[in-house]
Amino acid sequence: MQYETVIGLEVHVELATQSKLFCGCPNRFGAPPNSLVCPICLGLPGSLPKINQRAVELHVLAALALDCQVPALSKFDRKNYFYPDMPKNFQTSQYDQPLAAHGALVISELGQPERVINITRIHLEEDTGKSVHFRRIQGQLVADRLASSELSLVDYNRAGVPLMEIVSEPEIRTPDEASAYLQHLREILVWLGISDCRMEEGSMRCDANISIRPVGQLELGTKTEIKNMNSFKSVRDALDYEIHRQVRVVSEGGRITQETRGWDEARKVTISMRSKEEAHDYRYFPEPDLPPLEISEPWLQAVRQNLVELPRARSQRYLQGGLSPYDAGLMVQSRALSDFFEQCLALGSEAKEVSNWLANEVARLSQEKGIPLLESRLTAAGLSGLLEQVGQSKVNRAGARQVLEKLYSEGGQAADWIAQLGLAQMGGGDELETLVRQAVEANPVAVAEFRSGKEKALNQVVGQVMKLTKGRANAAEVMRILKEVLGD
Ligand SMILES: [Zn+2]
Repeated sequence: MQYETVIGLEVHVELATQSKLFCGCPNRFGAPPNSLVCPICLGLPGSLPKINQRAVELHVLAALALDCQVPALSKFDRKNYFYPDMPKNFQTSQYDQPLAAHGALVISELGQPERVINITRIHLEEDTGKSVHFRRIQGQLVADRLASSELSLVDYNRAGVPLMEIVSEPEIRTPDEASAYLQHLREILVWLGISDCRMEEGSMRCDANISIRPVGQLELGTKTEIKNMNSFKSVRDALDYEIHRQVRVVSEGGRITQETRGWDEARKVTISMRSKEEAHDYRYFPEPDLPPLEISEPWLQAVRQNLVELPRARSQRYLQGGLSPYDAGLMVQSRALSDFFEQCLALGSEAKEVSNWLANEVARLSQEKGIPLLESRLTAAGLSGLLEQVGQSKVNRAGARQVLEKLYSEGGQAADWIAQLGLAQMGGGDELETLVRQAVEANPVAVAEFRSGKEKALNQVVGQVMKLTKGRANAAEVMRILKEVLGD
């Protein structure tokens, strides 16, 4: 029996706001435990939430980037459950009227045709706090992942951080597609400054619903939900494991139990966490402390203004502009690099030339000096100016590299550095011809060898001219004059 896999992803993304969703506490990762809390995010009696407009803006921007509809009216609901990392014993979330729905994400894996994965909904909610568990090993407390550990501590810094939950339709078919979906999603959200999407810090988290069914069957099989995947790789590994587990169970005549399973990164297996019978009844009801959220058309249009061209569209434009797929991909690796590249194009530089310099010489300098491009003194005008000088043969390649180094560490304009460093390339005038004649006289043997048919012998003469000009001449130009002088 052949089976196909059906995967739906629920992705939680923390929004990159300055403060939390309903209070003024900073939204920051890595602060000392319980240092970023107040009566509102701790849910103390009498405190009242107030919506963070910036969070709504970032959420709506994400919704527009993912082709979602943003309804004029949405509302918040209380999702009730009791868990130590939730100070209020309910989570303010959205239930039946989310802030965005009916979107889509186009994914492409290398060598595969593009696929559209539909997005069911994106709702806005507050994040929970975080429990940290410890176990005593040889008298020492050691961090552990299991809630059954000896000691559990709670950090509420994360409680109330704005969180977006992006729910896909069950249209993903393979672990590779799931990974591509997450990567495309992250690319867009980071590009637009909506989130830093760091899975290792928990600002992007993913749960997966997965089931199998015989090929050709329309009805969905019983699904399991997998949690605790902390990297793109663990998402792929966990899905791979779970597909094989389900196929094995069904092939042996067993039945899949609807349950939540956790991914055990160390053992590379999914383990049962709780079954459907234990599933929560969240008893959703409308949040009485927050009015419904009204999105006006002019406000929506204002947010739409921030929807800049996305990386996929940009790289396609670069492809049409003559870049190779590899180079086009490189130039959209980050928004900052891509914007720098765009500025150079706007100054009239040639795309292929700019991308070569950025991908090679500039990347090398950035690595050597340990200073990223954007923190260097090099500006788009600086690089474009340098390329212009190279294009007009005012400096040769070796000289241009020296100038770039100066532009990178000290800034300024290429033409000034060329003059200051004495790198101006010698033109083809009398000066160069005089030096060529000198070199010919000084190298009678090489000239004789050339005349007897040994073309390569001239390289020695060219080398001498380059030495006399301290490398400022254009080697091809020297060769041209040399052949002229020798009457070839
Ligand atoms: Zn607070």
